[in-house]
Amino acid sequence: MTHQKTTTLIHHPYRAPAGFDAVPTGVFKASTVIFKDTAAMRSRDWKDRDAYTYGLHGTPTSMVLEERIATLEGGLQTLLVPSGLAAIAVVDMALLKSGDEVLIASNAYGPGKELALHELASWGITHRFYDAMSAQALNEAIGPTTKLVWLEAAGSITMEFPDLLGLVQVCKARGVLCAIDNTWGAGIAFDAFDLPGGLSVDICMQALTKFPSGGADVLMGSITTRDEALHLRLKATHMRMGWGVGLNDVEYVLRGLPSIEVRYSAHDRAARALAQWWSQQSEVTQVLHPALPDSPGHAHWKAVCNDQAAGLFSVVFDPRFSTAQVDAFVDALQLFKIGFSWAGPMSLAVPYDIQALRKDSTWRGTLVRFSMGLEAVEDLIADCAQALQALQALRR
Ligand SMILES: *Cc1c(COP(=O)(O)O)cnc(C)c1O
Repeated sequence: MTHQKTTTLIHHPYRAPAGFDAVPTGVFKASTVIFKDTAAMRSRDWKDRDAYTYGLHGTPTSMVLEERIATLEGGLQTLLVPSGLAAIAVVDMALLKSGDEVLIASNAYGPGKELALHELASWGITHRFYDAMSAQALNEAIGPTTKLVWLEAAGSITMEFPDLLGLVQVCKARGVLCAIDNTWGAGIAFDAFDLPGGLSVDICMQALTKFPSGGADVLMGSITTRDEALHLRLKATHMRMGWGVGLNDVEYVLRGLPSIEVRYSAHDRAARALAQWWSQQSEVTQVLHPALPDSPGHAHWKAVCNDQAAGLFSVVFDPRFSTAQVDAFVDALQLFKIGFSWAGPMSLAVPYDIQALRKDSTWRGTLVRFSMGLEAVEDLIADCAQALQALQALRR
């Protein structure tokens, strides 16, 4: 019988040691892995998924998490790394060499762009930023040295949902590998390996720090593929860089994973309720949430997301409010804390200077990005209302 992926994440073929059975996976920790004899030691192969060689290359516990993330993403093989950013770095380092070019969406996750601007540049790897809303812009940006295209849906902070199908189609037509930062979709909102029209990305990267963990207490990243040769290329770099993960951290993510879909939809419902409320407020000129019809890329979101979205959105304050005034609004929030990341239990708000963030943007004013926690949404709405009153009092 085939099951939905959320069922498979829980009824996974993990077998506890003989004579013992329980719901959680056993946590096996090791640096040294003991070989039964010299012949076994001499014939070891890090590519062999059934043989253990050294703690850095995996234990039964990390391999269970790898299999479950592969299920979540709809892929075949997964590598674990110590953070989402490290996952981006492994993909870049494995697939690019001096003289190559990587294309990155202009609204992509900022630290991934910084990696290209500094480390990749110093290794002779060039990059270009492209407009993710236009498949034609990507097609024009691809040149003879382009070896990798990074996709991200929705875009970081400004939340535009890209023309994902058009972008993947261009990558396929031009024969360039494409990797998606799938942290927002989390393997729930859409299947990046099974997009409408039979389209598929080559690599799914995800910050497990966010939805798979859900606890705001662990950092981890994953790299998932469907192609064995591509997986082994990534795995070779992963191994040579020595980026293992701690088994206590793996345990946290294994514990968070069974509830990912219910948490994802709870964050989603809360974000839509608060985004609706914000669209009635005269202090803001735009609410950026892909499920809102006038948010950029709404039609693209509808085409791939099956009415699901991460619990994140941004509002653009009217330019009559200075950055200092918007900061005062954020400081006046009581339930929303100020801090990065998302998909944890506590709601967060961060102000951004939209002009500095996105040089190609036509918006003016200060933007505030909200990430929904799991508090009662009416309390979160009341919190925003009281902080807006504080902002209005400041203007008098
Ligand atoms: C958080 C995040 C990352 C990086 O994950 P870390 O584990 O914090 O390094 C990458 N991409 C996106 C879209 C993220 O939100």
